[in-house]
Amino acid sequence: MRLLLLAPPGAGKGTQGERLAAWSGARHIAAGDLLRAEAKAGGLLGREIAAYQARGDLVPDQIVLDVLTPAVTEAAARGGYILDGFPRTLPQATAAAELAARLGVTLDAAVYLHAPEPVLTRRLLDRASQIGRSDDKADVIRHRLQVFAETTRPLVAYYAERGILVTVDADQPPDSVTADIQARLSELSPTRPRRHGSGFRS
Ligand code: AMP
Repeated sequence: MRLLLLAPPGAGKGTQGERLAAWSGARHIAAGDLLRAEAKAGGLLGREIAAYQARGDLVPDQIVLDVLTPAVTEAAARGGYILDGFPRTLPQATAAAELAARLGVTLDAAVYLHAPEPVLTRRLLDRASQIGRSDDKADVIRHRLQVFAETTRPLVAYYAERGILVTVDADQPPDSVTADIQARLSELSPTRPRRHGSGFRS
């Protein structure tokens, strides 16, 4: 199975990505986590990435592609992937499509998780009090939501045009969101062989 999660900050793509990976056997590739690991490793590149993340700005496309491509390539050769937070820009989407074509694979679905902005803000502020990520501060949260609206949301139309967009209401308890995603994905290919009873294309 190969899919991507398209979602504003706070919509629960990390949680859903982990669950879908455990359920399907595909690898959960979380762009933010891989970039945070790179930032933590330090060095010039790490410090540059950390600065973008702390401000809530997107890390430049080329850096993201350099960090993500090996993980995507490896996962494509195994059980597939759940891309969480990648792509986030149109050039990244184009590059991801080119990479998939080079690897001889296609994307089964782009899952768009949506929720009202006040819900997203409240969840991120709750997480801030629990985990304390450097970008979970009120002004940075506002900026990240704006970056999503301006730069990432256009990908919803991009994947709708390609006929693989699945839209799910993320303003529900996590179990209901997972169930909705699974149901919607199962509808995509009712006649194809089922994997782990899921109806996923694999
Ligand atoms: P996330 O963990 O998905 O909320 O991402 C946290 C931060 O990592 C974002 O605010 C960006 O600074 C950076 N980031 C994650 N994914 C991407 C991406 N695909 N392109 C650019 N920056 C990204």
